[in-house]
Amino acid sequence: MRMIAAVMYEQGLPMPFADSRPFRIEEVELDGPGPGEVLVEVRAAGLCHSDLSQVKGLRKRRLPVVGGHEAAGIVREVGEGVTSIKPDDHVVMTVVSGCGHCPACVFGRPALCKSVTLPRTQGLLANGQRRLTRNGQPIYHYSGISGFAQYAVTMPESLIPIDESVPLDVAAMFGCAVVTGAGSVFNTAHPSPGATIAIIGLGGIGLNGLMAAKVAEAGRIIGIDTRADKFTLAKELGASDVYLATDPDLVETIRETTGGGVDYAFEMSGAKAAMATAMAIVRPGGEVICVGLGSAAERYDYNHVNLVTEEKTLRGSFMGSCVPGRDIPLYVNHFMSGSMPVDKLRSQRIGFGDLNRSLDQLNAGEVVRQILLPHEFL
Ligand SMILES: [Zn+2]
Ligand SMILES: [Zn+2]
Repeated sequence: MRMIAAVMYEQGLPMPFADSRPFRIEEVELDGPGPGEVLVEVRAAGLCHSDLSQVKGLRKRRLPVVGGHEAAGIVREVGEGVTSIKPDDHVVMTVVSGCGHCPACVFGRPALCKSVTLPRTQGLLANGQRRLTRNGQPIYHYSGISGFAQYAVTMPESLIPIDESVPLDVAAMFGCAVVTGAGSVFNTAHPSPGATIAIIGLGGIGLNGLMAAKVAEAGRIIGIDTRADKFTLAKELGASDVYLATDPDLVETIRETTGGGVDYAFEMSGAKAAMATAMAIVRPGGEVICVGLGSAAERYDYNHVNLVTEEKTLRGSFMGSCVPGRDIPLYVNHFMSGSMPVDKLRSQRIGFGDLNRSLDQLNAGEVVRQILLPHEFL
């Protein structure tokens, strides 16, 4: 079929992106679904910091590619042999999916499944196929999703059915922001009730972590960001204290007011300075949970003697260590019951024509989550 999609031909174009236009809005051809694949009508797709990193070229991708990796939509057609999903199912489209039988998958860590990540880094679906072309030229898939498009062909493992009562422009955020932020708390850290938690970086992922910390009955939740205009929403969602990341007394103040440091510091931004703050504000014996993805070339320093003598733990959390079939329905329940008001993170609903300008707004930290509606405004 022919459809409209946002195609990236080149990474690392100059800012502002509203002028350099890394995403070209074009008509492309989508084939399939082939055997074992699913055709989804994309109804909403979230714009994530990882999209911004790809546009900037911080992590290389096979080009040209249709962008977008967190989305929600309605199943329109299933390929031969697909039994877990059927037409008309409402689904969250998530990048976390595994093969189901490698050691990582068997031990409940599908985000670490190599047999899925390898084809994805080559711009292919998990089964090694490619379904996108333009004028006969190949176009690649982004993270097995390519949600900045009116339709997507993907694998059933990337699709989590949800109730039709969940608004799809909220459901889209569960595919990346919610599982990454909330999963880093529930799955990676699983703090005891009463724990003191710091969230560094109050964007889409950080605020989901903050809401999860509240559900996990944290005793105190400290929000930290470079922008004070993030603080109102952070407080509304459960932050007990908020601080500017640039405050010269930040580390000292947090150590003093927490009696020596926080139990868990979540680094959600991928910024190098934020990692240093996280290491400094966590108490001896506490844990730093590293969630934000920075540049692939970045190296971090730490004092090895302090790491040993203070028994601090430095732990990575990729995509919230999540098992999507288990976690997304649970987090959707938290949303529907009101304990995780994910809809408050939706800053704007945008059309294809707003996509490049929205990258500039995301880069400036002016917005939390913009949601592309591929059928509503063109
Ligand atoms: Zn993302
Ligand atoms: Zn696997």
